[in-house]
Amino acid sequence: MLESIQNTQSISREELDAILQTQDSFLIQELHKKAQQTATQIYGNKIYIRGLIEFTNYCKNNCYYCGIRNGNTKADRYRLTTEQILSCCKTGWNLGFRTFVLQGGEDPYYTDVKICQIVQEIKSKYPDCAVTLSIGEKSEESYQAYFNAGADRYLLRHETADEEHYRKLHPQQMSLNNRKNCLKVLKKIGYQTGCGFMVGSPGQTVDTLYQDLLFIKELKPEMVGIGPFIPHKDTPFADQPAGTLDLTLRLLSIIRLIHPHVLLPATTALGTIDPKGREKGILAGGNVVMPNLSPVNVRDKYKLYDNKICTGDEAAECKACMAARMKSIGYEVVTDRGDYKV
Ligand code: SAM
Repeated sequence: MLESIQNTQSISREELDAILQTQDSFLIQELHKKAQQTATQIYGNKIYIRGLIEFTNYCKNNCYYCGIRNGNTKADRYRLTTEQILSCCKTGWNLGFRTFVLQGGEDPYYTDVKICQIVQEIKSKYPDCAVTLSIGEKSEESYQAYFNAGADRYLLRHETADEEHYRKLHPQQMSLNNRKNCLKVLKKIGYQTGCGFMVGSPGQTVDTLYQDLLFIKELKPEMVGIGPFIPHKDTPFADQPAGTLDLTLRLLSIIRLIHPHVLLPATTALGTIDPKGREKGILAGGNVVMPNLSPVNVRDKYKLYDNKICTGDEAAECKACMAARMKSIGYEVVTDRGDYKV
């Protein structure tokens, strides 16, 4: 079965079910091994690092799972100034980061003009670096303007490709159709584009996961971000169980096998549910990690879920910690933009 998935770079609904349900630890070890080999054939033992700058936790949306949702009145809101963002980049550049990821809630305070100015300033100071934006659903004109300003990549998890499941995770004002369309527009404009989903989100089933995999095959994104859903105490999903390490690792491996060149992070959420989660994510086929470059005084406020790790560490500590973690499993964190390899 694994050979067929690997050779055809596709998976049937039955094969997915078999892999997700099996208790056969040998089969799962083989799955991870094949995925890891696939990643190293393309990217070697090099791990790409992205400097994550969480620049605003204001958000106009009200996704039921998210700690910075508009309806969470307990969230302590903040915004970074352009100077603060540039200072994060400076620290990051000196530490060897060549990609900066600007992530935030959907915050109307940052108009298109402001976003373009920030992108332009980063690109003029650090022309050897890639800028990734992760600021949600915008119009085609806005995406085009950011791209013209120099943005290289865009992360927009689709969250779930199943309409009914999408409705369980989001209020009526939001639409899966629009989210999917945004991803298609981003690809069309020329961004290296990332979709993705949470593993174990409330209401997720093998069927919805199968839809996610079909969507990945259809979109052919350069990046896929997946990590476990983790409940946040001040959201409607406070009492829901978190996604598991095991299921997340299985899905990481499957995604690597069906879409071999993808840039696939071992996420902070994975590191949150297991102390060695990120190492295990790399050994299951991941090839990217995203240490935090946000100023320490705001780290704790960008709380998408409870118990988020690395909220007290300076950027240099995060980078050193990550380099040591990757070295411990035979990988090397590199100073590189880390573009998608065709
Ligand atoms: N606003 C942008 C957007 O919608 O793409 C970017 C920020 S959003 C907070 C980034 C991602 O965090 C979401 O795509 C979601 O998958 C993830 N996330 C939110 N709440 C989470 C939770 N409770 N557990 C795990 N991941 C979560």
